[in-house]
Amino acid sequence: MSFYKANIGYYNKLSETVNELLANAGVMKAPVPIKQIAAMCGANVVGYDFGGEISGVLVVEENKYTIGFNTENSRVRQRFTIAHELGHLKQHVNLNNKNEFFVDRDFIVKFRSDIKYSPKEIAQERQANAFAAAILMPKEFILHEMKDPKYKELHETNIIEELAKVFEVSVPAMTYRLSDLNIYRY
Ligand SMILES: [Zn+2]
Repeated sequence: MSFYKANIGYYNKLSETVNELLANAGVMKAPVPIKQIAAMCGANVVGYDFGGEISGVLVVEENKYTIGFNTENSRVRQRFTIAHELGHLKQHVNLNNKNEFFVDRDFIVKFRSDIKYSPKEIAQERQANAFAAAILMPKEFILHEMKDPKYKELHETNIIEELAKVFEVSVPAMTYRLSDLNIYRY
């Protein structure tokens, strides 16, 4: 069973949270201004030269939030990282703890390394990714965008590439999202 199907309740709550954030920011279509939304949530968004292995961090100090992203990564990757860290902020930051630190390593490094992740950490990473996908590629925005006549002339592969461009996300991220939403199945 997919993570999606096993967690319907979680996903319903997630779309509610995301729709509320988009509505409050007055965002009605792609591309979603993720830095602006993070700022609206009280996060200071800062680019860093982290080197190769770290894609992003979320630092919580005395209810001050800093989201750091790797300036060496591509623009679409930076957007996904900011959305992922905002996912940690909205879903995992315990307001009773004054100081917390989330660090996200490069995906490949992560699974090559000996770092062992607890089931809780793995669940949190999945939820941060689910949040990022939901806020950068809202279902309603995709359905609306696909009504544009230009998509009728395109082959499926090109449709996904065009959507990725419009939403300012990577092609794999868009492919995965469309599959999750049952728009295209792979
Ligand atoms: Zn993370």
